[in-house]
Amino acid sequence: PQSKLPDLGTTIFTQMSALAHEYQAINLSQGFPDFDGPRYLQERLAFHVAQGANQYAPMTGVPALREAIAAKTAELYGHTPDANTDITVTAGATEALYAAITALVREGDDVICFDPSYDSYAPAVELSGGILKRIALQPPHFRVDWQAFAELLSDKTRLVILNTPHNPSATVWQKSDFEALWQAIADREIYVLSDEVYEHICFAAEGHASVLAHPQLRERAVAVSSFGKTFHMTGWKVGYCVAPAEISAELRKVHQYLTFAVNTPAQLALADMLRNEPQHYRELPDFYRARCDLFIDALGSSRLDILPCEGTYFLLADYSAISSLDDVSFCQWLTKEVGVAAIPLSVFCADPFPHKLIRLCFAKQESTLLAAAERLCKL
Ligand code: PMP
Ligand code: GLN
Repeated sequence: PQSKLPDLGTTIFTQMSALAHEYQAINLSQGFPDFDGPRYLQERLAFHVAQGANQYAPMTGVPALREAIAAKTAELYGHTPDANTDITVTAGATEALYAAITALVREGDDVICFDPSYDSYAPAVELSGGILKRIALQPPHFRVDWQAFAELLSDKTRLVILNTPHNPSATVWQKSDFEALWQAIADREIYVLSDEVYEHICFAAEGHASVLAHPQLRERAVAVSSFGKTFHMTGWKVGYCVAPAEISAELRKVHQYLTFAVNTPAQLALADMLRNEPQHYRELPDFYRARCDLFIDALGSSRLDILPCEGTYFLLADYSAISSLDDVSFCQWLTKEVGVAAIPLSVFCADPFPHKLIRLCFAKQESTLLAAAERLCKL
């Protein structure tokens, strides 16, 4: 058939993990932990399966989970979404992002995103007939130039997609960024899609700034999160989105025919986890900060230049002291010859990306990080 996405190949995450596997390299490319999630969560899943909670869940998510999400949102961001109308449980954040984009973007609408940007946004916008306007952010701080942003806005602008803490740059938005966004779009009918899958992995002094904490923006926003990141269970593929009732009603129309509902026992187990073990997500910044520090320390004698990390479980490293290869070739060489797999940054950008940066995932056991650092220090 004639392709609807002729320029799209296999994601870099699949490519690099396959290459890591083929060469038996230490895989710091695709973002997933090499340790297991909480035993309690696993036990609750087994419990609910044994109890016979094995049929379809309600389309919007099991009530206990939606209520637990509402309570967590209230505790963290001072806003209590209505568990019935504002919260939708999805098959990972990926489905929430796709459903939100499909519900909001019409043929010919402009959508603004910030490069480097996560790879699932652009194909979803394209399939909806939207036109992506990308703002290129610059290392090391990847800050948004709000003047340049304002200049991109027009009557055609329908949606702004942002991600904080940001994959791949590991930088975060501050409250002032959300306020600047609000000032820029207040007089226009523009929606906001805020990808906050790393909301609990934030090391910034002022904590994670969520769109849900901004009283005006949250009236037009879809906030997306993922239990895969929060509970070290990327394979469970359970995420959710929070949006005002009118927006949720539209994205639920898409969700209803994309997956209809998400697996029941995992939702019940996650509800138990949120209610009974909230210290897990409260302690997550310290948990990951320790891994990040350990890895940076172990890389102390390497010629990689490590960029500041404010959140996510990724570190950026500048390899220009080591090689003049482009980042894609460097990552292939690193995997095959050095035995460490990483992700090149240029694949997240539409414009040529002149920097020599790779992304390394530190959601790994201490022994994995030390073994990878030993190899990288020899370069
Ligand atoms: N957004 C970002 C920024 C991500 O890094 C990821 C996954 N790594 C996702 C969305 C997708 O999350 P999920 O695995 O829950 O679909
Ligand atoms: N989001 C993960 C990452 O950034 C990968 C998810 C995937 O493979 N689709 O590495």
